[in-house]
Amino acid sequence: MPISSEQFTAPVAADGPVNLIGMDRAELVAAVVALDEQKFRADQLFQWIYSRGVTDFEDMTNLSKGLRTKLAEKYVIERPEISRVLASADGTHKWLLRLGDANEVECVHIPESERGTLCVSSQVGCTLNCRFCHTGTQRLVRNLGPAEIVGQIMLARDHLGEWPTAERPTIYERELSNIVMMGMGEPLYNFENVAAALKIVMDDAGIAISRRRITLSTAGVVPLIERCGTELGVNLAVSLHAVRNDLRDEIVPINRKYPIEELLASCREYPGVRNSRRITFEYVMLRDVNDSDADARELVRLIKGIPSKVNLIPFNPWPGAPYDRSTDARIEAFAEIVRTAGYPSPVRTPCGEDIMAACGQLKSDSERPRRFANN
Ligand code: SAH
Repeated sequence: MPISSEQFTAPVAADGPVNLIGMDRAELVAAVVALDEQKFRADQLFQWIYSRGVTDFEDMTNLSKGLRTKLAEKYVIERPEISRVLASADGTHKWLLRLGDANEVECVHIPESERGTLCVSSQVGCTLNCRFCHTGTQRLVRNLGPAEIVGQIMLARDHLGEWPTAERPTIYERELSNIVMMGMGEPLYNFENVAAALKIVMDDAGIAISRRRITLSTAGVVPLIERCGTELGVNLAVSLHAVRNDLRDEIVPINRKYPIEELLASCREYPGVRNSRRITFEYVMLRDVNDSDADARELVRLIKGIPSKVNLIPFNPWPGAPYDRSTDARIEAFAEIVRTAGYPSPVRTPCGEDIMAACGQLKSDSERPRRFANN
């Protein structure tokens, strides 16, 4: 169920300083104009914040002393606070972030050779209740605002030391080269904030991560898929996970609203989809549930004609989970059928399992205060 925008509480006290992170160019223009400054100052501010990663107005050397002081009186440039960092033996890092209202979300960095991916959250918790996903067991849910989404990326860049400097203006082979909206939450149930955040992230004068390096994953909010393509143009990943509506109704309950046929029709029409720009279908491998040869053949039949690849995700367990992971042999046999039909079918290596950072394992303690409050 989407959360109405009223349920999003901005994590800023009404009379406290306002965070500039999350503001786009237009909002920064409004901010400088309100301080009786010229509009072009907003471009300078944008670059300092998003291209250089500066957090102190005093470092903004091309702004007058007067403007720096005025900005510091009303504004801050603030990342989410880190409450814990967990490091996996495989190099994956998970940051637990505490938001302004003490809720927590998680954000995961997965290093690869010559690149690296940041898995970003869009909501505190998730309303979807997919049966195999740990996040779905968390009760408290709210949308993240643009500042909280962009903030995850900026914080990762801080920690990876990847802000350009005068000495190192261009960074090749970044450790944060790609973004996947695959953390906690359903990004298309928070479309406006996710879109605002990604537009800031993609802006060439700022963080400048190209839409080709950003993937948004959805469980299938069909009415918003087209806008994701036209307004953002990012890569689309779709959590399919089952090839029959009866099973998908059970394990990905949003299917009851938007069944497989409608979902695949929207994928077929995804703006810009072609062989060089494929849709990724994600398919979690649940032992004896959705992993037979017949399932693989039906999958191939369903996606026929859609430029796509199928990412097989071995189920990642969590305490009390009602499923098991398919065997390696079963996953390979499934993958082989899909590949033989002409679709790349990589098997996703679980990353950060030892720190509960793998797909579907993210869950924060944000429900605790509420539970205590009820006692
Ligand atoms: N709500 C979006 C974004 C989450 S992406 C979506 O559903 O696509 C996280 C991916 O991990 C999704 O494909 C999700 O279905 C998958 N996933 C969830 N729980 C999992 C688990 N326990 N093991 C493996 N993959 C899981």
